[in-house]
Amino acid sequence: MDHTESVRTPASWVVVGLDNGGTCNNATVLDATGRFLVDQLVENPSLVQEGPESAVEQLAAAFTDILTMTSTPLTLVRAVGLDTPGPASADGVISSKGATNFSQVSWHGFDIRGALEQRIGLPVIYNNDANAAALYAHHRHFRPYAMGRSSVAAIVGTGLGGGVVESGRVVSGAAGMAGELGHVQIPLQGVLEDDQPMPQCNCGFEGDVESVASLTGLKKNLLPYWLARFPDHPLAQEPIDKAAKLLRSYGEKEDPLALAVFGQQAKAIGKLFTIAANFTDPDAYFLGGGVVEAAPKFRQWCLNTVREHTQLRREQIEVATFALVPDLDMAGARGAAVAALDRVQSM
Ligand SMILES: [Zn+2]
Repeated sequence: MDHTESVRTPASWVVVGLDNGGTCNNATVLDATGRFLVDQLVENPSLVQEGPESAVEQLAAAFTDILTMTSTPLTLVRAVGLDTPGPASADGVISSKGATNFSQVSWHGFDIRGALEQRIGLPVIYNNDANAAALYAHHRHFRPYAMGRSSVAAIVGTGLGGGVVESGRVVSGAAGMAGELGHVQIPLQGVLEDDQPMPQCNCGFEGDVESVASLTGLKKNLLPYWLARFPDHPLAQEPIDKAAKLLRSYGEKEDPLALAVFGQQAKAIGKLFTIAANFTDPDAYFLGGGVVEAAPKFRQWCLNTVREHTQLRREQIEVATFALVPDLDMAGARGAAVAALDRVQSM
């Protein structure tokens, strides 16, 4: 056991982190000394497809269950951190146009943060899921120095999420839309092949980061082009959804088609990080998403390719670090809890 762990005194209070996803909620508890009381994934069904009422009840159940599981009295809880997929306002109001996970009309413009706060009678601090994961990556990496450092995180999933952290806190912006890194348009010289069509994003932009570095971009833009160039490839026979899912296993085997596709995604993220370098000049650049679960050698190749295509000045190279986002499946709940802890400490 880590010596510092064994001599810690019991904390006088805690915060709870709740990560709301399309199928499950994930819960954790963080004590006032910054120690997580849960080291595994603790989930319950999120029921978001049944509408806000069921979903808020499920979040309340996740809250009660995690306290029971960790033998934490309710009276010790000072606040709850909540994260959900976006788009939502900085204060947890789901977009008036709805969202992928919140398609029912009853979700449009729904204040999920306020509803949970009312239901459990404790302050609820909101972040979108990508920002929560970025915040956790930051605090996990910098630990006691987190409040004095800055970072940017790009997380590759269905879309390209992420976040910008300054002095240990998420930059949320006036409308809560800061850190929407997927929709930053990037220079595509050196990323696309000469005859490759301009990638289109669902947001209406073309040539933004998400149009290349996301599962959606992979299916819509990259794979159709590359499979046409490798007509004899086994994936050329598969439906595009299946081909996209299988691609990582080919990358791990250093398959040329897979490396060409993932190489383009890594270059696109490198271009994004180059913009970040000139914009906020962060201490750390984090890469997250499915790649974190890939075989170590392939994972490292992805991170190295991102790094090679991030143009830093010599002074920046000396201080900047590149790392993978750890504990991805727990990162949302943990980041939400970190935000709640910070809020209580600064009250
Ligand atoms: Zn976009």
